[in-house]
Amino acid sequence: MALQGLTPAALVRAVPELLLEEARRVVAQVHRDEDPRTPSSGIRRTSREAVTRAGWVPQLEVKETRASRVDPFVKYALTTADGHVVETVRIPLERQGRFSVCVSSQVGCALGCSFCATGRLGLLRNLETWEIVEQVRIVRRGLEGGGLRSAPERVHGVVFQGMGEPMANLDRVLAAIEVMSDPSALAIDARAITVCTSGLPSGIRRLAREAPKVRLGMSIGSALVSTRRSLMPIERSHSLEEVVAAACEHATLTGLAPMWAVTLLAGVNDGVEHAHALADLVASFRDRTGRSPRLSVIPYNAIGPANDGAGDPFARAADDREQAFRDALRERGVFSHRRYSGGADVDAACGQLAARA
Ligand code: SF4
Repeated sequence: MALQGLTPAALVRAVPELLLEEARRVVAQVHRDEDPRTPSSGIRRTSREAVTRAGWVPQLEVKETRASRVDPFVKYALTTADGHVVETVRIPLERQGRFSVCVSSQVGCALGCSFCATGRLGLLRNLETWEIVEQVRIVRRGLEGGGLRSAPERVHGVVFQGMGEPMANLDRVLAAIEVMSDPSALAIDARAITVCTSGLPSGIRRLAREAPKVRLGMSIGSALVSTRRSLMPIERSHSLEEVVAAACEHATLTGLAPMWAVTLLAGVNDGVEHAHALADLVASFRDRTGRSPRLSVIPYNAIGPANDGAGDPFARAADDREQAFRDALRERGVFSHRRYSGGADVDAACGQLAARA
């Protein structure tokens, strides 16, 4: 049993001789990177022995850390005990000394979005709860002062936008969110956590019910169905209409506007007809929920030759095309922002994780 993957309540369920207050102290000790075998006040000796008989703190090995030369992004390649590599990105926030961590939820991904490097790997396995939590702990350790509460550098937020579709591993993702946001553990405000999906409606509804403070992110691909289907195979089993209906329920239940992301691909989804279809979708969402999605336009980052060696199938949309796309949205009253997707020189930018796996 991996101790860093448990909340105090879950630890008491696993080790019933423990009092809840003792479990809080054990969890706090684990997340301060102290050895849970070390005696500390407020934990009875028998309780401590029961914990250390039942659990330990496994590690992911840091295989490589690559800091971008052009911006303060850092990509971590982490090796699991069974030899897989997962990737995590440290993202600097506007406020000095604050960071977000882009975490992976699976090794590879089954959904196969064509503009994403991870999709080319296929799904190798789900990550365990502790393996998701550990990614944040590793980034935190690299911050000045160890990233602890009073340190000058801290992890402020988490975004599930690394390798994998988080809604396809939702039990573990929700458990990891509980640990991340528990005050005894990583104490990250749940409102600073975002789960991004390519479109699994049942997962969106469950996220709203079970983690209502957590934000929802969605990858749109294109609001024109035929283009979306060609980019994102998930469209064949869950239409964008169905996904947006679930997102409307999410917004109504939680009161939170979702983030919608579109990766612009030259000659594929960067035309004004795509912008108009997207504006229609935003208007319909607004009519149904009273809220506007926050729209991010992401420049495409090269992911290299396809599996068949046929070269990168996509190119970044030209600046004037991107501007025309965003202008067409603005004329319809839809404001977008261009996401600065950093770390491209170390393959840490959006869509690039596993680009060189
Ligand atoms: S974009 Fe997300 S869901 Fe699509 S293949 Fe990549 S990791 Fe999977």
